[in-house]
Amino acid sequence: MEKPIVIAIDGTSASGKSTNAKRVAQALGYIYVDTGAMYRTLAWYCLTHGINVQDAKAVTRACRRWKTELRCVDGQVRLLVDGYYPEREIRTAEVSMAVPHVAAVPAVRRWMRRKQRECIRFGNLVMEGRDIGTNVFPETEFKYYLDANLEERHRRRAAEGVQENLAARDQQDSQRAVAPLMIPLGARVINNSQLSPEQTSAIILEDIRKRLAARATQTSDACQPPTE
Ligand code: C5P
Repeated sequence: MEKPIVIAIDGTSASGKSTNAKRVAQALGYIYVDTGAMYRTLAWYCLTHGINVQDAKAVTRACRRWKTELRCVDGQVRLLVDGYYPEREIRTAEVSMAVPHVAAVPAVRRWMRRKQRECIRFGNLVMEGRDIGTNVFPETEFKYYLDANLEERHRRRAAEGVQENLAARDQQDSQRAVAPLMIPLGARVINNSQLSPEQTSAIILEDIRKRLAARATQTSDACQPPTE
């Protein structure tokens, strides 16, 4: 059986990763994985269990003990805790502020990487996050890095009714010691400040289709009998 394909979409906060990753997954019929939601779930779990998110040892203990399950529902991977999927609870401003702390804990990143790699059992993936092309699936040839200017990113969040210091979160994500946010080697960088989601996802899809076609040509060449 062929190895599942992983499309890695990394980038800054509010750079359109979720919107575009979902569009690309839908167009290709691949499974969508929001790794930010997984980190948010751990932050939410700590907040609701009275665990100080700035206490790395306590967060590590929680991550070793919590009872989780990965499930694929309607083409999207969900991380359930004690059988519950906290879909809305993880989107609060409180969780957004807490999440970079838990995401900086080395044991948490190892746990998340293992779980995220496990997702290929569901099939071909479009996975979005901060370290997918650098750390989770560095071997994939399909790497995209999205960014937009800060003003535009604030505008997008405000349109969703969220006020947040995005620059501070990006700084925390870029400066942590383990798997910081950075442009993966070989990634296609797309600044979409002036682009619509339709335009951004069209650029990504065109690039993916070209690469898939090149792969198919290579495979069929390799299958040809040698010429005399
Ligand atoms: O993408 P989203 O804004 O939901 O991510 C929330 C936070 O989770 C990020 O700010 C970052 O701290 C953390 N994260 C991460 N690595 C990922 C995905 C998210 O560190 N692959």
